[in-house]
Amino acid sequence: MKRSICWILAALFLLAVAACGSNATEGPETGAAHSPAPKETQDDVVAVVVTPPPTQEATLPPAPTLPPELIPTPEPTEAPVGDPIITLVEGEELNVAADFTFSDPGYFAADYRGNSLTDRVTVKGEVVPYLTGTYELSYSVKDDDGRSTTVVRRVHIVPAEMPEIVMPPEKTVYLTFDDGPCGYTEELLDVLKKYNAKATFFVIGNKRRTDLIKRAYAEGHSIGVHTYCHEYKKIYKNEKAFFEDFQKTQEVIKEATGSYTRIFRFPGGSANTASRRSKGIMTRLTKIMEDMGYRYFDWNVSAGDSGGNGYTASQIKSRVVNGLKKHSDYAVVLQHDIHLNSVRAVEGILKWGQENGYTFLALDLTSPVVHSKVQN
Ligand SMILES: [Zn+2]
Repeated sequence: MKRSICWILAALFLLAVAACGSNATEGPETGAAHSPAPKETQDDVVAVVVTPPPTQEATLPPAPTLPPELIPTPEPTEAPVGDPIITLVEGEELNVAADFTFSDPGYFAADYRGNSLTDRVTVKGEVVPYLTGTYELSYSVKDDDGRSTTVVRRVHIVPAEMPEIVMPPEKTVYLTFDDGPCGYTEELLDVLKKYNAKATFFVIGNKRRTDLIKRAYAEGHSIGVHTYCHEYKKIYKNEKAFFEDFQKTQEVIKEATGSYTRIFRFPGGSANTASRRSKGIMTRLTKIMEDMGYRYFDWNVSAGDSGGNGYTASQIKSRVVNGLKKHSDYAVVLQHDIHLNSVRAVEGILKWGQENGYTFLALDLTSPVVHSKVQN
């Protein structure tokens, strides 16, 4: 239908041109010859005959480049106003093994704009690092606008993990020597070597015989802390005094062996009453030291060589041998290598022991403990 109308219109148009004759070429040239007359503006006609203009997109000129000063900069988006934030390294609940010292894992603080406030943080509260329990530390900070934040960290001081005790075979003997080393220790080490026996030395730090500690350690003996100064009044004054003395000895041991030890013997043993001026100190120290991962050893056989009792080497040997017979499972023998007779008794003890099926070993963290009943 549309098409037939078109044809009719086209025919009428051609007739009109023919009727106009020569006029057609004299008039100013208009677009009429190439496109429909303006009055024929019905949409469907235009749609047929008008050539659509070429698409403009492909020929768009490049966008003009604005000089930098005219490029609009977006308004900075302000962080929402808020209180400072404190971040605790390792979190708000902290489990730490009991130890001589506690060091805070740290924290960061910033205001809501992101400026660091870490330097302004104040910490309140106290952790007693060697006493098991829960402690609270509170961290506070204030920003320039006076907004403040406080966060709390709970520190749980827990006992250090200890290796399991392994029961040794029957007839195991742990010879232990306190208060050395000194000149006699060399002779003792020679005898132990001769019988391929191992022993334990609870050393006094201020003797500074690192050469002998080093030799004993190199020959397979154990090194434990005894004390640095061996002055009861001083070391049992309080926990702090005991720790200081203990750690000074550890440093001497480390210098000699390259590492700290975890075994020790209390001066006077754990049942000493020389500490009675500090009421309850042994009850506290025996627990604290074990919570911190150290193991102390008392003894169940004593050579009786301490104090000027004047036992001969053979008397000391007899005392020890009688003790071993009573403790055929395992024996921890107390001797002192600062007494020559005690050192001289060792060969007889080793000889008798090996002939009777005893083995001489060094103490370590897995050895069975012998603990006396604490008296203070
Ligand atoms: Zn001692």
